[in-house]
Amino acid sequence: MASTAMPAHHRTTLADSDPTVAAILNREVKRQQDHLELIASENHSSAAVREAMGSVLTDKYAEGYPGKRYYGGCAHADEVETLAIQRVCELYGAEAANVQPHSGASANMAAYFTFMKPGDTLMAMNLAHGGHLTHGATVNFSGQLYNVAAYGVRDSDEQIDYDELRRIAHESRPRVIVSGATAYSREFDFAFIRQVADEVDALHMCDMSHYSGLIAGGVYPSPVGHAQVVTSTTHKSIRGPRGGMIIGDADYVTKINKTVFPGLQGGPLMHVIAAKAVAFGEALRPEFKDYARRVKANAQALAAALTAEGFRIVSGGTDSHLMLVDLRPFGVTGKLAQDVLEAAHMTTNKNAIPNDPEKPFVTSGLRLGTPAVTTRGLGEAEMKLIAGWMARVLRAPQDEAVQAAVRAEVAAVTQRFPLHDLA
Ligand SMILES: *Cc1c(COP(=O)(O)O)cnc(C)c1O
Repeated sequence: MASTAMPAHHRTTLADSDPTVAAILNREVKRQQDHLELIASENHSSAAVREAMGSVLTDKYAEGYPGKRYYGGCAHADEVETLAIQRVCELYGAEAANVQPHSGASANMAAYFTFMKPGDTLMAMNLAHGGHLTHGATVNFSGQLYNVAAYGVRDSDEQIDYDELRRIAHESRPRVIVSGATAYSREFDFAFIRQVADEVDALHMCDMSHYSGLIAGGVYPSPVGHAQVVTSTTHKSIRGPRGGMIIGDADYVTKINKTVFPGLQGGPLMHVIAAKAVAFGEALRPEFKDYARRVKANAQALAAALTAEGFRIVSGGTDSHLMLVDLRPFGVTGKLAQDVLEAAHMTTNKNAIPNDPEKPFVTSGLRLGTPAVTTRGLGEAEMKLIAGWMARVLRAPQDEAVQAAVRAEVAAVTQRFPLHDLA
């Protein structure tokens, strides 16, 4: 006779129920503990964020918005989504928010679909100068649906050429001008971009995915008030769960709400929205301002130390959490550097630099960021160590003994700064 009780595996731990997956996750925990995470788009979320993300809200269907759902039983879904919206609006001083986008890419898609028709012109940063795939790459929906006009950096100082940006806007008459990037270390002049957008009757949309934690912490200029619509991921410098969000002026967000649901998505990921609420709550605490300040100070210390080691930093430095390193003085490609640094337990990503002579899968550059190592507690003294280790490894990229020696020194630091909440 079949039992009516819940099956035993429904009540047990992952390790008991599925040791195969549990073992994989344990290996990932160990990888995160043993490696210095220098990928600019990554961070280490808190135990509280991950607990909310692993909660029973994953079981709940809540299509619609708080107070207007298409399912019963949404009282607590409403509470947590309302809280996430209130907190993110307070954090950024925004009028309205949509916390349902599943990712940064889907947040951008929702904004584009709301304000552009296929064939309209989208203006955004050149991908080869730091723009994101969703800013008009030909392999992405954004490059397939829209006519793309790109602005970029000057050759002379590798910073955005604002005169040229204005000229391109007047020439191409875009519907939307996107500010924000994925590999640009300097500040954006959001007020100027809004002025240009107004001149050509375009919408200014900022994609602050990379900078959102720094903006929340007050160490990078805020686009709020200058861009009618601001999209973001929630898992980069802001240190929340993997996901997306949109904030902005109330009348714009009201229009976007219909695009997110029912336009693009079905049920929202309520467990992830609960984790977004937790992350926004963390970012509202005074300690987060200190965190953001240390992220930027660490990035500037790392850039200075790398320069002293003989690397060239694109644009000469950074105003944010990230930098692009030109590896040509060391005679190595981005691809090789990423591989050998990983062997020395430093995780990075190869990245094209402006006017890169190498193919996108090879590159002459490396993108580095400090949000994750700063969460871990590393400071400016450790940034000098990291720069020294990188130089040693990349001066002798074939030398496995050097990699092993550096790996041992990295281990001393990762043990001194444990990811304390991981098992
Ligand atoms: C990371 C990023 C995205 C995409 O976010 P996903 O969550 O990976 O879809 C979009 N725009 C910018 C500028 C980004 O840096």
